[in-house]
Amino acid sequence: MPDFNRARFPMTIANAPAEAADGAWAATHNPATNTVLAEVPSAGLADVDAAVRAARAAFDGGEWSRLSGQKRTRLMFKLADLLGTHFGALAELETRNCGKAVGAARGELQQGIGELEFFAGAATKIAGETNAAPFGFLNYTLREPLGVCALIVPWNYPLLLTLRKLAPALAAGNSVVLKPASATPLTALVLAELAVEAGFPSGTINVITGSGRLVGDALARHPGVDKVSFTGSTEVGHEIVAAASHDFRRVSLELGGKSPSLVFADADLASAVPSAVWAIYYSAGQSCEARSRIFVERPIYDAFVEAFVAATGKLVVGDPLDRATHVGALISPAHQATVEGYIAAGVAEGARVACGGRRPDGLDAGNFLMPTALVDAHNDMRVAREEIFGPVATIIPFDSEKEAVAAANASIYGLAASVWTRDVGRAHRVAGAIRSGVVTVNQPFTVFPGTPFGGYKQSGWGREASLDALRDFTELKSVLVYTGGRPLDPFGVGS
Ligand code: NAP
Ligand code: MG
Repeated sequence: MPDFNRARFPMTIANAPAEAADGAWAATHNPATNTVLAEVPSAGLADVDAAVRAARAAFDGGEWSRLSGQKRTRLMFKLADLLGTHFGALAELETRNCGKAVGAARGELQQGIGELEFFAGAATKIAGETNAAPFGFLNYTLREPLGVCALIVPWNYPLLLTLRKLAPALAAGNSVVLKPASATPLTALVLAELAVEAGFPSGTINVITGSGRLVGDALARHPGVDKVSFTGSTEVGHEIVAAASHDFRRVSLELGGKSPSLVFADADLASAVPSAVWAIYYSAGQSCEARSRIFVERPIYDAFVEAFVAATGKLVVGDPLDRATHVGALISPAHQATVEGYIAAGVAEGARVACGGRRPDGLDAGNFLMPTALVDAHNDMRVAREEIFGPVATIIPFDSEKEAVAAANASIYGLAASVWTRDVGRAHRVAGAIRSGVVTVNQPFTVFPGTPFGGYKQSGWGREASLDALRDFTELKSVLVYTGGRPLDPFGVGS
């Protein structure tokens, strides 16, 4: 039974609790109070090496990588069950460390368990193909595990994104070294302890904490790592690709976004308005798929803004541990200052603050910000081009479907988009024309266990949460077998 209220949470390397080799610890905070929550090891290069060596030995030893799919399934379900056993405590720890509303943390843990179970079931269904090859050859393919996978995770959905990477990596038979974000390491550290309790072979799941610039970079460059699966900012994504390019190590990337909602005049506003509110303010807007640009057809623009502001006014901002809270704290004072700077930049470029734009009353200790809508905006403003990663919606009018699609696509990102219309033909037409990895029609949800999630353009490489992710954690081997009756003599030099 893990102690969720410890002052210090160790790492897990080779199924054993581990401190940093040089004994350094770093504090992790509660964003709702900006007080120290606990300490975690501040790992260095020697620790990266130890974790990769443990994962390498585990992989080469084969206790996990060559285990039958059925046994992998059983262990993964056991881990899922343990997450269920500690559901409330894990969600609360996530909330304390991440600042998000506990209702959201619970929903994300439920989703993460769902993804773990999806991939647990998939572990027995990894199969290749057979191909008819000419000249009496039989060709079949094998999907083999890659080896050691470095999983690097951001702070906005710490446990869900950890599970989203861990589950397909494990299902395919890889061993992993996971590095959570420095701001939110706690639930991943507990997860590693639960994996030991579940009975995963030593070295299969290693979790190390430390600065991304040092530990993350060293993982991405380590010759013992076969794949880097990264979720985070587009800037760091560039660094990961550069670090991994030296020996062409496999890379998958889930990066930033500036995702649009397109609301046509015929939309059912009873769904579109509250859903658009949810799609930007969920997780206080610290969400890669946040629909932060809302394009509204001009005839309903004013009515939409009025209803959007009214619905936003009903959101409860405050104590993340209160089940009634919708919007919790931003991750850090520095991040809050960045978000506030964007609001000021929007105003300076001519947008108007229709709601929010300030801290809520009486919540001065934590990093709280009222959900903010910038209206009378256009798509060239910085607030419409750059990822703010906070509770800030930019609402922009449009006059035609063509203009809306062009504006939606005028972005370096292409992660998600939502379309609101009662016109079936238009819904599918626009879904086809949008350049993003996910399009949602008349609903705001972007990912369920089994649905591919990922980005076009600078939003990333690869897809997660689906069987595509499982394939991305394998190597494909092509085996060619001679089945002909006559001796083979390609040079014509035989007897
Ligand atoms: P980040 O700064 O890119 O950090 C992400 C992770 O990478 C952290 O664990 C970080 O460690 C580590 N890291 C930092 N620099 C590194 C380097 N040079 N080499 C290797 N690792 C390094 O992102 P964030 O600020 O945590 O999260 C916000 C970003 O993530 C947003 O842009 C958001 O859109 C994106 N995101 C995307 C998705 C998606 O699925 N597409 C999902 C969630 C978030 P430290 O914490 O120690 O710095
Ligand atoms: Mg960062």
